[in-house]
Amino acid sequence: MSFVDRALITVKAGDGGNGHIAFRREKFIPKGGPSGGDGGTGGSVILVAEDGLSTLFDFRFQHRFEAEPGGNGGGKQCHGKNGKDLEMRLPPGTLVFNNDTGELIHDLRSGERLTIARGGKGGFGNEHFKSSTYQTPRESTPGEKGEELNLRLELKLIADVGFLGKPNAGKSTLLAALTRANPKIADYPFTTLSPQLGIAEVDAHRRVVLADIPGLIEGAADGAGLGLEFLRHVERTRVLVHLLDILPSDDSDPVENYRIIREELRKHSQALYDKRELVVINKIDLIPDKSERDKAIKKICRELELRLDRDVIAISGATRTNLNQLLERLWKELNPADQVEGWKSTAPV
Ligand code: GDP
Ligand code: MG
Repeated sequence: MSFVDRALITVKAGDGGNGHIAFRREKFIPKGGPSGGDGGTGGSVILVAEDGLSTLFDFRFQHRFEAEPGGNGGGKQCHGKNGKDLEMRLPPGTLVFNNDTGELIHDLRSGERLTIARGGKGGFGNEHFKSSTYQTPRESTPGEKGEELNLRLELKLIADVGFLGKPNAGKSTLLAALTRANPKIADYPFTTLSPQLGIAEVDAHRRVVLADIPGLIEGAADGAGLGLEFLRHVERTRVLVHLLDILPSDDSDPVENYRIIREELRKHSQALYDKRELVVINKIDLIPDKSERDKAIKKICRELELRLDRDVIAISGATRTNLNQLLERLWKELNPADQVEGWKSTAPV
């Protein structure tokens, strides 16, 4: 099983500027020499792998990318201005294919820059053709065309965040609430890639790939329930959200439920067990009375020896309470450069 984000785009480097034909007109020189300048070079299109990007979402709205053309040459030996390069930021791991031939051009690695379409050279002005025997050239050349390519971009999506919790903790509901929160992205084909994977927008420029980790308990290690391949996928997440139902309908204890899941993790996947984890108390709408609710939240925090708002966030997926706070918290964890204060990795079991 793999989740692939795809985009079809066209990149076009800038054309070179045309050469110019001109002759010097100087008061006391009867026949001025050729003075037409060369055209400038067109800008190139450069792909830049940028850490922190994890989807090809941006290419859903724009498909054509053009670098600036070079300026035309001018009189008085003026060279045309060079066109500016266009830098396109892509997530590391993006595969770049020529969409016309199907050929894989490049596998873009972290930190890499790749000139994908080279700008056209500028044409020669007539000054260029001057020689001792050829004093009044009347020729110039046009700028070269910038390269143009149809590309297919492909990125294997790796979930940044995995959702854990007992059945009915509200994982599916939360995933749906986070990934459909913004109607703008509702028709993005990968918004909900499967029941288990979705892309959440923190804001227009920050996105997080989320994965529901259902039924770990039902024997992932035996190949039942959660497939092994999906398990390997979620083992590559960087952060876990451990969802706790504040008021389980089976009258079980949230703290006890937390420990059960931690124990299942330890048994089935050391990789997940060791991962950083944010405890998220869910369904707080079930206790409408504020002081009752705060009491229940505090009790869970105390028993887990975790601090509210630092290690623990209380939300409701169904009523979308505190979902922005949750996304901001996750973003900070995934992008430590922006981070102010971290949370404790896991509560003692
Ligand atoms: P999952 O098994 O962890 O995926 O849990 P689901 O998302 O399927 O939710 C289980 C049940 O809890 C469903 O009946 C949901 O409607 C309900 N539920 C989920 N989130 C909330 C919530 O925030 N508040 C309330 N009151 N119910 C919720
Ligand atoms: Mg579910």
